[in-house]
Amino acid sequence: MGPQKTFSRNPSRHGGAFKRTHHSSRNAGYSHSPHPQHSSYRPRRGSSGGFHRGGVAPKRGGRRGAHIDISKFINKTVITEEAEIFTPEFLFKDFNIQEKLKQNILAKGYNEPTPIQDRVIPHILHGKDVVGIANTGTGKTAAFLVPLINKVLLNPSEKVIIVAPTRELAQQIDQELKEFVAGFRIFSVCVVGGAPIGRQISSLRYQYNFVIGTPGRIKDLIERKCLNLSQFKSVVLDEADRMLDMGFINDMKYMMALMPKERHTLFFSATFSPEISALVKDFLKEPIMISVKKQDTAAGIEQDVVRLRPGEDKVEVLHNLLIQPDFKKVLIFGRTKHGVEKLSVALVKRGFKAGSIHGDKNQGQRQRALDLFKKGVSQILVATDVAARGLDISGVSHVINFDIPESYDDYVHRIGRTGRAGNKGKALTFVG
Ligand code: ADP
Ligand code: MG
Repeated sequence: MGPQKTFSRNPSRHGGAFKRTHHSSRNAGYSHSPHPQHSSYRPRRGSSGGFHRGGVAPKRGGRRGAHIDISKFINKTVITEEAEIFTPEFLFKDFNIQEKLKQNILAKGYNEPTPIQDRVIPHILHGKDVVGIANTGTGKTAAFLVPLINKVLLNPSEKVIIVAPTRELAQQIDQELKEFVAGFRIFSVCVVGGAPIGRQISSLRYQYNFVIGTPGRIKDLIERKCLNLSQFKSVVLDEADRMLDMGFINDMKYMMALMPKERHTLFFSATFSPEISALVKDFLKEPIMISVKKQDTAAGIEQDVVRLRPGEDKVEVLHNLLIQPDFKKVLIFGRTKHGVEKLSVALVKRGFKAGSIHGDKNQGQRQRALDLFKKGVSQILVATDVAARGLDISGVSHVINFDIPESYDDYVHRIGRTGRAGNKGKALTFVG
């Protein structure tokens, strides 16, 4: 009892399996407004891919926040099961794995499986293709190593290839594997760039069950005919999202094409995007999709983007949102002190009850603006990130990112001002 690393029973962790990824075609819901001006607000086109790269993220020199994937501002693309408090269904000793493997797992100090391990290990043991989505640091490595080691114990001629995006990750997986198979006749070869290829080539002449490597080096070894993927019946693509980010898509396709058609394919990633979904469709057969992703943002916050047409007046678009009846208590974020002040003045001129808080105001002015907003005397508070740190205001109906936040952390922090204490809230981010 009382393991030092407690992954389980952590109420902040959410678990759940999902069968399919839905690209919701539901619009944001503001379009049914009675006001004629609202035509200038166009909810995201939601019919297919969910988000559109081109023309969305402004690429102007070093524009802050432009590197944040727009899909992160929309939370309708992937639907996961309701959040729940995690209680592992299994203990390692309950899994249908060899006794000596259980002993090595315990010797490594793992008592209870982490959520992703708990959910995926039984399916992998059954030979199913699996997609596992879980945040980094949640034990994905053992989630695939444990059942695959068991497979090799049952059939010593079984070969497994594990592909990871970086050398360090491949080496880390190899290290963990070596600990799990200590004392067994199971061998691995780690094939990564930056290390002498000669040694890797000679290792591949001996008996092995696992090859763990990075895409570039694996491809190199295939081309040199030192590695024959047709002998591998199991493959793991670890950190698939990072492999995509790093431009390994073609290498992945190349490798998968050389694998036997009848194979066991496992796919692990920290995020699930339309690109990942496309790969899953190409590479896996009737996969079991499991997501135990802890949600980055409160579940009760509906998030969407507001796209601006070229030449469209941003304040005008904002105006048309603010006059809608459900925009009762609106916190608007701007990037600079000057921009925030300018926007709040413009809104007051347009007849809105708006205040502002930013670093150019003294403490008394800031407190007054905040109080008026808290009491509901003013409908709108325009703020900079710094001024809004830690603010706990009840009943904020909407957070509007008039300027894109500098980082995703800032984004999460901003939108966390709404949807508090289990209430529903909406977050809109101006893009384009
Ligand atoms: P991920 O691949 O999801 O980023 P890792 O597999 O690298 O995560 O695991 C993160 C850390 O958690 C590692 O230090 C690992 O040894 C530890 N760990 C994994 N599973 C367990 C477990 N069941 N119990 C305790 N520690 C674990
Ligand atoms: Mg990992």
